[in-house]
Amino acid sequence: MISDRMSKLLERSAAMSSMYTESARMKEQYGAENVYDFGMGNPNLAAPDIIRETSIKVLNETDPWYLHHYMPNNGFIEAREKIAASLNRRFGESFGVDNIMMCTGAAGGINCLLKVLMDPGQEVLTFAPYFGEYDRYADNVNCTLTAVPPNIPTFQPDPAELAKCVTEKTRAVLIDNPNNPTGVVYSAETIKAIADVLAEKEKEFGHAIYLISDEPYRELVYDGAVVPWIPDFYKNTIVAYSFSKSLSLPGDRIGYLALRDDVEDFENIIAAVAVATRITGFINAPGLQQLVCAECCEEMVDISFYDRNRERLYNALIEYGYECAKPEGAFYMFVKTPIADDKAFVNKAKEYRILLTPGSGFGCAGYVRVSYCVSPETIEGSLPGFKALAEFYKKK
Ligand code: PLP
Repeated sequence: MISDRMSKLLERSAAMSSMYTESARMKEQYGAENVYDFGMGNPNLAAPDIIRETSIKVLNETDPWYLHHYMPNNGFIEAREKIAASLNRRFGESFGVDNIMMCTGAAGGINCLLKVLMDPGQEVLTFAPYFGEYDRYADNVNCTLTAVPPNIPTFQPDPAELAKCVTEKTRAVLIDNPNNPTGVVYSAETIKAIADVLAEKEKEFGHAIYLISDEPYRELVYDGAVVPWIPDFYKNTIVAYSFSKSLSLPGDRIGYLALRDDVEDFENIIAAVAVATRITGFINAPGLQQLVCAECCEEMVDISFYDRNRERLYNALIEYGYECAKPEGAFYMFVKTPIADDKAFVNKAKEYRILLTPGSGFGCAGYVRVSYCVSPETIEGSLPGFKALAEFYKKK
């Protein structure tokens, strides 16, 4: 018998698993090429060749005992050195190895961080729409997630609303920029305003409020969009980065946390993350991937592929009459549903063999997330269905 707590989590995750099953069932029934699955954020692009080449090189050149044995929980020193050097070059930081902790993807890193920062009953804040797993991450540490209401239609977080939501119990604020599910890039102006509110609230409540910047899509930007480097705006920032999307390695579970020395309680945070990594069962991030990704940390998948998908799909949807903020980053667009009930719209779309994710799963009903990290054929094939769907609702 599983615990009551897990039963509840299982129920809440059912929508995600049913999406997988539904997609597989429809592909079986209609043929994979006739099903247009925009449900998942699983990159369609393969990892760049350099990943395979570097993996072989590391395997050939590294002492196998060293490579495969337990290591310091924060990761191989040489991996952290290379990542620190890259961040120093790119963002003018002066990081050393102690400022970087290797983690098992952004998800592993954030969960360890919350374990380190949060006591039961405290609150994590985020901005709707937000990555749908955040509330479960908060639940893992017996805390609640509070979402600042969405700022429609731009989806740039509203600092005035943030100020209303921060309470004595708020210890961490999670932002996801470029944003999943909207593809919106929070501007420097937005970040500065968020930082001002949080600094003010830190003074008012007399304790640190950590800003966790979840950045798996940092390099996936279009039209010259610039993603602000958050530590430049707010002292108590911790960056959670992942190679899942920039290098198309979501199955390899690799990323890092980065924070400056002047983050409040820096030394304890570093020491505690090492413990959290161990006792949550991660122990350390995958060793081979640490060395490979540190070597390739400035490599990228070909984002012109996503950009072409973005342009084609966005222009077509707008032409058919849908409303959507043009995404500048990640590989998602967040489209307003022609009816208020986003789940009903998702069900209707299935009649056209189009699979979408309801916005309510991201804390913003009345929208759907369209994940365009798919093949161009999927985009082309889906367009008549999207058009017919729009026409169906116009006639109603
Ligand atoms: N944060 C956001 C915003 C994401 O979109 C994802 C994955 O899609 C994650 C975290 C988890 O990423 P990782 O594979 O690095 O754990």
